[in-house]
Amino acid sequence: MNVHPLPPSALRGEGMTSQRARDRLASKLKEEGIRDQRVIDVIRNLPRHHFIDQALHSRAYENTALPIGHGQTISQPWVVARMTEALLEFGMPQKVLEVGTGSGYQAVVLASLVPQLFTVERIEELLRQARRRFRQLGLNNIRSRHDDGKLGWPDEAPFDAIILTAAGDAIPTQLLDQLSPTGVLVAPVGSPSSQMLIRLRGDGQGDFIQEELGAVSFVPLLGGIG
Ligand code: SAH
Repeated sequence: MNVHPLPPSALRGEGMTSQRARDRLASKLKEEGIRDQRVIDVIRNLPRHHFIDQALHSRAYENTALPIGHGQTISQPWVVARMTEALLEFGMPQKVLEVGTGSGYQAVVLASLVPQLFTVERIEELLRQARRRFRQLGLNNIRSRHDDGKLGWPDEAPFDAIILTAAGDAIPTQLLDQLSPTGVLVAPVGSPSSQMLIRLRGDGQGDFIQEELGAVSFVPLLGGIG
């Protein structure tokens, strides 16, 4: 199985409490329909409290989105799990692009499963903190960049999979252009009050098969850099 275990240093200082809390969270994800055991195992082993402010540590393993500053949020674990399994369902993508690094949590979940993860964030301070977390966790298969993620990462395209963790009213065409012909893209699409999680899968001939995966609630996909 293509899972990179986190080094022991990632878990240093962890009490039993947070391991138990993570086990409970993992059981809840399963109860609520997450099927991919690889994804559940990664979430069970990943200290989510490292990705949020100390004042919120006691809530780190609740199945809710939490504020990370700058008006942004770390996504709800169930949504992270659902999007990750949706991305992996047709085979393990080798090269993945994430738009909206935020806390870095979704990036680390993905980088624990896929060989290469690229992530773009428009708010420099959030990216700085996320990079520190990537280093602390010893993950060396993540490359990150401060930019408008709507533009993708043209120099590294094509990507086998693209994930957006902020919602726009449409999927930017630049991102579609950077998806490999049979690649998979998962993104929330819609207005702040009504968003749908969409999965697009390239049919190999330049068209996409589109599926709706359920209603979600994400922060908006903004333009330019913050
Ligand atoms: N994946 C993140 C979710 C963070 S919320 C996590 O696991 O914590 C979404 C993030 O998308 C925010 O940090 C926001 O600043 C960022 N974002 C919004 N529009 C963007 C854009 N055009 N390019 C890059 N990042 C963007």
